[in-house]
Amino acid sequence: MKDENCIFCKIAAGEIPSKTLYEDEEFRVILDLGPANKGHALILPKDHYADLFSLPEEKAEKVIRLAKKMGTQIKDALHADGLNLVQNNGECAGQTVFHFHMHIIPRFKNDGQKIGWIPGKPSGEELEEVRKEIVGE
Ligand code: AMP
Ligand code: ZN
Repeated sequence: MKDENCIFCKIAAGEIPSKTLYEDEEFRVILDLGPANKGHALILPKDHYADLFSLPEEKAEKVIRLAKKMGTQIKDALHADGLNLVQNNGECAGQTVFHFHMHIIPRFKNDGQKIGWIPGKPSGEELEEVRKEIVGE
């Protein structure tokens, strides 16, 4: 399941060179070309799935296992102080490459990076409305 027009399919297959940290039959983990920090890596499934919604459950399980393994290795090797896992779905959410990928971003004290949002202040009632909307009550 490859998409001929997808750059991450080509990178994952090794057709386009990348700085590979890890590879197995199903995944390749590479260094991001536009890193937020030193060691910023991407987990790429070798099969093409556009996003989280099309990623099969069994692959999703493996992604989080790999994120833990590689995140720990990166953090230890680079003496990072922390780590963000980031995974964008859809243009409005910041996704620019439409082949599922998980960012592993090591964090360093005072690294000047920001990964965040503007917090809202919903009332308890508003939160309850949202809860009902999601669970279908
Ligand atoms: P997103 O915005 O979540 O879709 O992330 C796409 C990421 O892919 C960005 O962090 C880019 O820097 C990175 N990227 C794009 N093209 C390449 C490439 N050829 N090799 C490595 N990383 C890439
Ligand atoms: Zn692809």
